[in-house]
Amino acid sequence: MLDSNDAGHYRDRKGNAKPNPEFCICLPSLKNRSFIGVLMNPMESNHEINSNPAPLPELIRKSLERNRLAHAYLLTGSELDVRLAATSLSKTLHCSNPPLVSESGVNLEFCDECQQCRDVERGRSPNTHWIRPSSRLRMITIQQMRDLSREIFLSPLGSPFKVGVVESAERMNREAANTFLKTLEEPPKKSVLILTSTQPDAVLDTLVSRCQRVACGGLGASLVTEEQRKWTQKLAQAAMANHEGLFARYRFLGDLTKTLQERREIIQEEQMEASPLSEDYELEPAHRKKLETEMNGIIEAEYRKSRESLIQGLTYWLRDVWIALEYSGNSVALPADISPELSSILYFPELADSTHTLAGRINSAQARHNLEILEKTQIRLSTNADQNLTLETALLELRF
Ligand SMILES: [Zn+2]
Repeated sequence: MLDSNDAGHYRDRKGNAKPNPEFCICLPSLKNRSFIGVLMNPMESNHEINSNPAPLPELIRKSLERNRLAHAYLLTGSELDVRLAATSLSKTLHCSNPPLVSESGVNLEFCDECQQCRDVERGRSPNTHWIRPSSRLRMITIQQMRDLSREIFLSPLGSPFKVGVVESAERMNREAANTFLKTLEEPPKKSVLILTSTQPDAVLDTLVSRCQRVACGGLGASLVTEEQRKWTQKLAQAAMANHEGLFARYRFLGDLTKTLQERREIIQEEQMEASPLSEDYELEPAHRKKLETEMNGIIEAEYRKSRESLIQGLTYWLRDVWIALEYSGNSVALPADISPELSSILYFPELADSTHTLAGRINSAQARHNLEILEKTQIRLSTNADQNLTLETALLELRF
């Protein structure tokens, strides 16, 4: 039975239980460590791990290049993608240390490190006024729209732009929209209004007609690193090879531990090269000992970070499986039937076949069990548990 208080679900307007794509933030220790937590909580994230800043939708990027930014956008797509796009555009406009600037001096990328970028990430930017449905009924209120209309006319601080974001624009009724139409039609110069919606058909026409509509598909997927992609593919292959019994799992485990061993060696070599230990043979024994201890600490930390990221990628795929199951109400359709809506929130759209095959074999509780297994594995590995034994136990416990 689905429970509306269950972190894994929410109820839509008709009262039907729907899977909550933000489920992973509800796993306590993944929160703040995974970039799911970071992306899903722009208001309270701790800005970690995401070493791959989210790109902008192509259309917006092109308009920045041509210096023809629209004054108002309606970003549509999954919750993850529209939030990413709104956050990225906001950072790009405010960034004080942009890695790439157009010929006409417009920021095309953001550094994700300067004060402006970090303020946006934490929801504390004085230049981005971000509103989302509040009130008991989860509606955008008239007062919120009045505040935004006033705020957008104030001068920016340390950025050339003011940005207003209205999340879930479909939650704005006619009265709230009316207080905002004039601002939306003629916002001040150097300001951008961003409306987002996962249900664009439910957004009032008066709003839609005043915005440039931009579909933001697959931005979440583009954050997955090449390495995470590669290992997820291998895990999917192992999961598909049920007929081989446990052999496929052990083959995967062998590959994984070998790669991790090689990774450790590379990190060791890199750290050794960068250390004074590799040059100076005349070091005092006590000093040498201290340097060695320090270096070993760095090696261990680097290694753990890299291992954690690899396993995180596997978690993203198992989350895809769970989402696919929930979307289809536990009876999985053929991969060819994947709706664009579902495909836009998957981290690995290219693994749709395996995702659907696995979703057809297990039920929702088992899919969540898989997520919890990898979660526990990360916790165990962050203590001093034996790595290979921990990984082996996890792989044997996964339900394929
Ligand atoms: Zn920046």
